[in-house]
Amino acid sequence: RTVYVNGDYLPETEAKVSIFDRAFLMADGVYEVTSVLGGKLIDFEGHAKRLQRSLDELDMPSPCTMDELLEIHRELVKINEIDEGMVYLQVTRGAPDDRDFVFPDPELVKPTLVLFTQNKPGLADNPVAKKGIKVISIEDVRWGRRDIKTVQLLYPSMGKMMAKKAGADDAWMVEDGFVTEGTSNNAYFIKGNKIVTRALSNDILHGITRAAVLRFAKESQMEVEERNFTIEEAQQADEAFITSASTFVMPVVEIDGVSLGGGVPGPRAARLREIYLEESRKVAV
Ligand code: PLP
Repeated sequence: RTVYVNGDYLPETEAKVSIFDRAFLMADGVYEVTSVLGGKLIDFEGHAKRLQRSLDELDMPSPCTMDELLEIHRELVKINEIDEGMVYLQVTRGAPDDRDFVFPDPELVKPTLVLFTQNKPGLADNPVAKKGIKVISIEDVRWGRRDIKTVQLLYPSMGKMMAKKAGADDAWMVEDGFVTEGTSNNAYFIKGNKIVTRALSNDILHGITRAAVLRFAKESQMEVEERNFTIEEAQQADEAFITSASTFVMPVVEIDGVSLGGGVPGPRAARLREIYLEESRKVAV
């Protein structure tokens, strides 16, 4: 696989980043994952805008313009012949001469930009979407700026392992009694004609897929309520689902051992998945 590091397209075995890189030492980096369907990028503009916001919130310099980023994404998709899969992008505050808590002078230390592709044939036609996934709930002990997409993913990764050990697929995180989000996705339930999901704030990542799915839901006459909800309320719902760039809309059929909709994906989540795939393919770049 060919990867991109700071201006160069290289075989992955030749790509190198300094051990003093601030992301390696301090998780001082941000990332984006953009899916690829039919060789085209889904929701690229949304991901590019959120990247800029993450950089701004952390006072991290941009490594290049958003147009250049699009070109790099496209070039890697082409070189690696990705039809369905993902492009992972990471920007870090770069590698100063030594480890130091103080941010380096942006004039002296340039950001590190790394991109690689992940080939995932069958991403859209994912058989898991026909079965649905099981989630457990865990306490949300992450930091207070979850709206910034940093590479600080240790706790979400631990959450995924807790889910696996419990025989589930993922975990929904709960803070002060209310669901924040999944380990790497936004969380929703459907009751009647209404979709409920937590409102945007610093407590959750502002999902790019979330924005699109809520827009499509409203356009197809579903009601959308952005508010706090508990695990118990979601367990009593008709359907539940998650969204993310790599899973699109994925039905949830079990929450903490309680089955929803007889343990099979319901019609509304399945329909939202179809609409999302259909509409986002139309505007893919
Ligand atoms: N929430 C968290 C914590 C995430 O890590 C992600 C994606 O990685 C999402 C939500 C979904 O965001 P998006 O739809 O932009 O992929």
